[in-house]
Amino acid sequence: MIIYSILDSTNLIISIAVFSFSFQKLIYTSKMWTTTGLLLAFALTTRSTRASPIASDRWFQEPDSAAAKLFARGPSDSYPDGYSTPPTSSTPQAWTDRLAQVVASDSFPNYGPRASETAPWYASDGTVLQSNDPSVCLFTSGCENPLDIMYAGEGNIGVTFDDGPSDASPSLYDFLAENKISDVGTHFVIGSNVLSYPDQFAQLVESGGHVAVHTWSHPYMTTMSNEEIVAELGWTMQIIYDQNGGKVPKYWRPPYGDLDNRVRMIALEVFGLVSVVWNADSRDWSMSDGTPKSTIVQTISDYLTGDKSNGLIFLEHELNQDDVDMFIQMYPSMISNGWKLANIPDTVGEDWYQNAKDNSSSPSPHSLIQTAPVAAPTLYQDAAPTTSLTSSSAASSTASTSNATTQSSASSTHASSASTTPASSSVVITSTSTVAPTSQTSVAPQPQRNTSNSGMGITIPSGFSLLISTAGLLWLIIV
Ligand SMILES: [Zn+2]
Repeated sequence: MIIYSILDSTNLIISIAVFSFSFQKLIYTSKMWTTTGLLLAFALTTRSTRASPIASDRWFQEPDSAAAKLFARGPSDSYPDGYSTPPTSSTPQAWTDRLAQVVASDSFPNYGPRASETAPWYASDGTVLQSNDPSVCLFTSGCENPLDIMYAGEGNIGVTFDDGPSDASPSLYDFLAENKISDVGTHFVIGSNVLSYPDQFAQLVESGGHVAVHTWSHPYMTTMSNEEIVAELGWTMQIIYDQNGGKVPKYWRPPYGDLDNRVRMIALEVFGLVSVVWNADSRDWSMSDGTPKSTIVQTISDYLTGDKSNGLIFLEHELNQDDVDMFIQMYPSMISNGWKLANIPDTVGEDWYQNAKDNSSSPSPHSLIQTAPVAAPTLYQDAAPTTSLTSSSAASSTASTSNATTQSSASSTHASSASTTPASSSVVITSTSTVAPTSQTSVAPQPQRNTSNSGMGITIPSGFSLLISTAGLLWLIIV
């Protein structure tokens, strides 16, 4: 406990960062404990130094901490190539092991990937399944699963920016900062873009924006194999974890809204990722297809002057300057119409990350390996009634990083008729520190919805905690 209490000191962590690369290397690859000890001792004596909590090449947690297990890496590890699905042969064993548990459960849907984003699904017995089949529950067909976040709550706008970081991102981050609203946006980043635009990503994190997952290469996820889904999500989580001080993302958004129960289940049960969709499509993505800006302005204005009862989770982008300029242009209207802006976790009262409250807080050394039985079948096989939400099934682009997405109609009825009660899910965060674990990792409550939510269980094995803490203390003594 002592070691983690100490390590929780932001100043200490910042001091350690001074030695980040060599420190990691020593921990990972050498037996030079004496030198390591000297470095640590020096860090302890210089902990009054305060700096940005962000650095691109350091860990906030010891590489052998429980928190690091799911995303632990060696100093020579690299990332997959950008803009294509990472080869599954490079998937870390910890991810593969958990996927095997999930797939073996009774809850796992009995179909695989579909042939294309417009193809049907085939059950293992050959039965053809359509998008509104309860076991499929495709979001873009209007099916709502209570596990998803789709509503921001009365009077709230859940501000989201997809597809960043990009060349256009800095102007967005500057605008948000100038208006002291850097923390209101949830940025669903593409892993390949984080790889290509590290400076822009650093600016995002340093400015205080909330970071979430938008896959590695922006594919239609329902067309991916189980293993490819894991690779797309896992590597994006990995690079965010690496570049954002060991914070593990808690939310993701499927590209094009292409989300069925198989994808939904792998995201949540393998990685603890809650799916975030939307109920207000700005259609800013269609500008690149020729839609006039005036049309987008009108679409957004209609939402802003419309019903506030369910709130709006706005689908917006930061892929190009037109996207960014559109938000900047419409921001005054959001304020003048009385909306309260917030990022996704703030709209639902949750922490930003699975192991940290926000960008400026140190991550708790939780184990993020999920070991509990997966959730009850009802959540993934027959829990989701089709609602009155209408949608277009036409996706507008096939470019891998396009911001095109299938759209939910602006005239949708937002009230949900979902009546299924989610069973307790099974994401287990094992705490190994004195830091209080996230009070709950429940699937975020969804305002205005006729569902109850019992959340996910949290198990804190005190014996394991004691073991790790003792080991940490011994390590301190040794060095
Ligand atoms: Zn996207």
